[in-house]
Amino acid sequence: MSEETTTPPHNSKLFIETVGCQMNMLDSELVVGALRQRGYELTKDVRAADTVLFNTCSVREHAEHKIYSALGRLKFSKRRRPNLVIGVMGCMAQKDQELIFQKAPHVDIVVGTGQLAEIPSLIETARADRDQTLAVSLGRRDGNRQTVASSFESYDPLREPEMRPTPYQAFVRIMIGCDKFCTYCVVPMTRGPEQSRSPREIAREVEVLAEQGVKEVTLLGQTVNSYRHTEDGQLVRLSDLLERIHDTAGIERIKFVTNYPKDMTTDLLEAIRDLPKCSHYLHVPLQSGCDDVLKTMKRGYTVADYSDMMDRINSIVPGCSVSSDFIVGHPGESEESFEKSLDSIRKWRFKNSFIFKYSPRPGTKADTLYEDDIPEDEKRRRNNVMLDLQNAISEEDNAEFIGREVEILVEGLSKSAVKAGEQNSTDPRAQLVGRTRCDRIVVFEGNRRLAGSMARVAVDDCTATTLIGHVVTREYQHNPTSGLPILQ
Ligand code: SF4
Repeated sequence: MSEETTTPPHNSKLFIETVGCQMNMLDSELVVGALRQRGYELTKDVRAADTVLFNTCSVREHAEHKIYSALGRLKFSKRRRPNLVIGVMGCMAQKDQELIFQKAPHVDIVVGTGQLAEIPSLIETARADRDQTLAVSLGRRDGNRQTVASSFESYDPLREPEMRPTPYQAFVRIMIGCDKFCTYCVVPMTRGPEQSRSPREIAREVEVLAEQGVKEVTLLGQTVNSYRHTEDGQLVRLSDLLERIHDTAGIERIKFVTNYPKDMTTDLLEAIRDLPKCSHYLHVPLQSGCDDVLKTMKRGYTVADYSDMMDRINSIVPGCSVSSDFIVGHPGESEESFEKSLDSIRKWRFKNSFIFKYSPRPGTKADTLYEDDIPEDEKRRRNNVMLDLQNAISEEDNAEFIGREVEILVEGLSKSAVKAGEQNSTDPRAQLVGRTRCDRIVVFEGNRRLAGSMARVAVDDCTATTLIGHVVTREYQHNPTSGLPILQ
């Protein structure tokens, strides 16, 4: 179905809840942008909305339960307000399809990750006809690669500033899908085959974002460093793409997530070293420090391969921080395997690690091949032990910054300032937050007008996750005649 321009019948109020990864946050931004162009207004109050969308995640069972519970709570609202349109979009929509209508018969539309462009017209059709509609892509075995790939459409229309993390930061999708087929993961099914976007389109999108005031772009892909696109007969890799967007006026910093260890090529590391706007931060999930577990996960590398990659990162981009993901309690993970994962954290001192307890996902190889043999209590114990170790290392490494000055991109109010409702305060000073080039979070007291600019902060203290400091006052040169400072 092609995208149609539709107009909502009245001032529609849209509520959207997003769970999952940055790719989902971007999808929500784009869908909201498309709906606002058609006259929808965003509301944070689900009871005030006549259109409710859930952008869903299937990576963990917990995220799915959360959505089904939220859908359950809407059953009575739908009875009271039959005009209400309820939609489920994203990975869970692609994975569960008709099952969503069975579990929640009051849902009107179920829209997969490859059909997001259709959402405006699907909502209006649902409101007019009261029919349920399922719009999803083909399964990975439902045709040849080309046919399946073309049923997953990348969705990257005009941008919606209001949905961004801050006005100065934006995500840019450079690829969709994944072909790695790790045994525990649903993404190759929910997001389809790996497809890289045109570098010309990406460069144009970055220019538009810079014109809107964005200072930092984060390039997104499930395995972002696998990016490859042939344009005008030339193969463009991620290193080439970084070079191409690097000089975009207004852009101060470029990041990219998530990296796949085997695709961390030397040309990419050299590009990070040579391009000053590239963040010296890489998120490269190891998942397990044990070769036997990596093999059952079908991750496609060994601990020795990962070690080789870390050596290259450290020699080509010294000081580059690296973060990781780990799955604890994967089928077959013995105590010895788990200890090896802890050793890898001790050895590589990750900036931080995202730790997940294994949960079998229907539709994955791991779910059919392996027994979920680690009891929940043991998974929880391993999770906590690993978290404690990682936190201790993060705090020790953050402490190294105490007494030093760092340059940060100021993002805006800190989480605690937002929680305290300081957005509406007239006091120019507030607690602000920013990040260093190696992605360390820094909070400090400062004038709100610093948001969106680069600032120097002296670090006074730290926690495992945050550096705490104060702004370093610029040293002015003085006019020898007037004695007044020369502002630069
Ligand atoms: S690389 Fe593996 S874990 Fe990452 S999205 Fe692809 S299949 Fe999932």
